[in-house]
Amino acid sequence: MVAEHEAKELLRAAGVPVPRGVVVRDMDFAPVAELREPLVLKAYGPEIVHKSDAGAVVLGLSRADVPIEAARMLASGVAAEGFLVEEQAAGGVELIVGLVHDPGFGPVLLAGLGGVWTETLRDTALGLCPISEGDARRMLGSLRGSPVLYGLRGRPGVDVDAVVKLLMTVGGSGGLWERLELGEFEINPVIATESGVVAVDARYLPAGHASNGDQDDVLGEPAGLGAHSEPTDVGPRSEPADFGPLFEPRAVAVVGASTTRPNFGNMFLEFYKAAGIPLVAVHPEAREVGGVPAVPSLAAADVDYALVAVPAERCAQVVREASGVPYVQVMSGGFGEAGRPELERELVAAARAAGTRLLGPNCMGVYCPRGRQTFVGGGIGPAGTVALISQSGGLAGEVIKVGERRGLAFSRVVTVGNAADVTPAELLRWLSADAETRAVGLYLEDPRDGRALYEALAAAPVPVVLLVGGRSAQGQRAAASHTGGLVSDGRIWQALADQTGATLVTSQDDLIGVLAFFQAHGARMADPDSRSGESRGGALVIGPSGGASVLAADAFDRAGVSLGPLPDSALGELRGLGLGAGSSLANPLEVPVGPRSGPDLVQRAVEAIVRHRSYPDVVAHVNVQSFFTYGTRAEPLFEYARALAAAQDALPGTRVTLVTRNGECAPAGVEDEVRAIVAAAGIPVYRTMEAAAVAVAAGGRNGTA
Ligand code: ADP
Ligand code: MG
Repeated sequence: MVAEHEAKELLRAAGVPVPRGVVVRDMDFAPVAELREPLVLKAYGPEIVHKSDAGAVVLGLSRADVPIEAARMLASGVAAEGFLVEEQAAGGVELIVGLVHDPGFGPVLLAGLGGVWTETLRDTALGLCPISEGDARRMLGSLRGSPVLYGLRGRPGVDVDAVVKLLMTVGGSGGLWERLELGEFEINPVIATESGVVAVDARYLPAGHASNGDQDDVLGEPAGLGAHSEPTDVGPRSEPADFGPLFEPRAVAVVGASTTRPNFGNMFLEFYKAAGIPLVAVHPEAREVGGVPAVPSLAAADVDYALVAVPAERCAQVVREASGVPYVQVMSGGFGEAGRPELERELVAAARAAGTRLLGPNCMGVYCPRGRQTFVGGGIGPAGTVALISQSGGLAGEVIKVGERRGLAFSRVVTVGNAADVTPAELLRWLSADAETRAVGLYLEDPRDGRALYEALAAAPVPVVLLVGGRSAQGQRAAASHTGGLVSDGRIWQALADQTGATLVTSQDDLIGVLAFFQAHGARMADPDSRSGESRGGALVIGPSGGASVLAADAFDRAGVSLGPLPDSALGELRGLGLGAGSSLANPLEVPVGPRSGPDLVQRAVEAIVRHRSYPDVVAHVNVQSFFTYGTRAEPLFEYARALAAAQDALPGTRVTLVTRNGECAPAGVEDEVRAIVAAAGIPVYRTMEAAAVAVAAGGRNGTA
């Protein structure tokens, strides 16, 4: 560990104010004469880490006190190599500002309430370096204790601009994080007052000295999924790949299908046959497999894409013969994820030698209706604008099938498995520029190339929704500094989302739901009118039942969506529609919707309101059960859906969303019909208020980006 006064010297050189001080060795306290009282005495030495705990810091001293206190420290057993004596800064708000090198994401900045409260309050915010000034202000604003910074109950606030400047000096572009051999770096505390900041303690552990356990792991063995690991890289690639042929290959080869014992290879042959893409099998002896012509090796296959489903030990050999094939997908598992990183490295080396790009290993492949690419049975769905990058093939298959059932249409879906060569970040960069893709979903279990992912997300012009598996299992790491102990993977993912405008969701259902919102409302999100969501009304929620309305307000509040008040000027008109008789007129607005109420009442109420105040989002909800308890005619519900579609058609600057509560009470097929009616007008449908709230929040995030 670098001594405190040296760490402070680094700060001083970077322009961060630190207390005036002198270093004392051999008990020669003469230089202390230059300092202004009151003074602080601190012992330093290799065994002294947290000085307060070690009895190695004393405040409020006169010059005369200093040698006496120093002698007392030595006598009490403090292993001092020397002393730092410095001027005591005036009191203020004590903050912590730290940096850690995360093995997955690289340098991460932490800021929060510090000093003695650090561990107790755990009130901190994270940002991936480099942070922007906007990030710095958002991080400070996100602290629960932020009122102490901005002023509280007559107490003045601190010089927030100076704090922001400090965060930029440490974690901004060109900041300390770029210059330090970073293990951990921490200022705790920096004292912020009305007139500026002063860093009164600094701790610096260069890389390799940090007690961050994962730090050492990355050097040698690449771990499998779920663990942090560097990609099995074999040198940088200069040119960004053209993934066009990955998604739309001229022809496909399948390696590993059997003539005697049907296996995964055979299953894929069947999928591809059904998809109608030109196809060849690779088999050492057979002239055909399952009715598909066969060649003895990939070297003899004129294709853009080869799927390899042979045992892990034989994959590298197959890939070595793939020169001329731009993309090879290794479906087989049994590599890094199974504790065999050497096999994975051999595979990557084989791909590099053959000049081919490798997808996987341990992945299902690619789905692209436009390109007749598939890894799912049951036929190919419609071509659309939604892309998905998934580390899990199984999850991708579910999102395709369930998503298509819910009306999603995909442009490209790609599973990456261990991502030994082609990474999610690289794919995201390509999809961002893809003319067919308007929104991207990501399912990841580890950051893989976290820096590149951060950069790709920050640069993505399309809305992105991110589902991360295993966040709870990735706990906090043991660390020497508070900063290290307060940085966990779950928090970094959230910081990544906040900094890049991506939406982080917690379930597969929300991943699909947010993609459905992006698909339905993509064009309306791009509308510059919808960007200043806050200055407009937020979301307007409208539908039957007082209780449902109250719960809706809670659900949107949890999702961070504001429900602005109704415009006063609209209240008369609403009363004219017969609303507000037994209840108050408010947002959420209670409006009867059912088999006996007019189907277009919601439409008229919405129009009456938005004439006076525009809302970026209108969320209409119905209680499906009320339509079917005393009869089974679905027509009134369809009429309502048609009226809502008409409302959307009349409001191009507003995003209308429908919630069909209690949909399980509808006869089979009714919900599909409702969905189809409103989908024609570009309205997405959710079965719960909570799901709608998450999607609306995601839309607002991107609308305001
Ligand atoms: P530790 O190693 O225990 O973190 P610090 O150097 O942070 O030791 O000192 C402990 C506390 O003493 C700090 O949290 C701060 O409140 C106070 N302190 C230390 N140095 C100064 C200083 N120069 N001016 C004012 N307060 C100080
Ligand atoms: Mg300290």
